[in-house]
Amino acid sequence: MNATSLSLENTSQQSPDKWDERFIRLAKEVATWSKDPSRKIGCVAVKNRRVLATGYNGLPKGIPDSPDILDNRELKYKLVVHGEMNCIYNAAANGASLEGSTVYVTTLPVCSECAKGLIQSGVSRVVMATELPIPDKWVESFELTKTMFQQCGIDYSFIDLT
Ligand SMILES: [Zn+2]
Repeated sequence: MNATSLSLENTSQQSPDKWDERFIRLAKEVATWSKDPSRKIGCVAVKNRRVLATGYNGLPKGIPDSPDILDNRELKYKLVVHGEMNCIYNAAANGASLEGSTVYVTTLPVCSECAKGLIQSGVSRVVMATELPIPDKWVESFELTKTMFQQCGIDYSFIDLT
């Protein structure tokens, strides 16, 4: 399966909702906080137009952002916390429930590991602004995400701000 075979059905790319556009822009800002030299992911969880939590991809707190890790792809993948999971953890640290929230994610589609976290946190809607084409290594993971989201009744869509 290659990147171009991924279909973006159920998209709402024609005229994004004003608030969806605002929050995905906020998620893009949050993404810039990441120190990952290759990809910066931003995530914002929202309910009733209020931000509950934010997250970006990075190493666990206390682990230095050293080139030894960030430039070592294999090690980095083992240690890095995805933006979506950091958003969930930050919400937990602040005592904020994500039940019924909408989550905005930039750059890459939600991987199957983060999809499980979002499902278990009670997130009901996911809006993604994804760079295209989606890199091959994420396509298979996202296929699993789509299946889980559909089975769990999570509304997901893509937004294109370009
Ligand atoms: Zn992930």
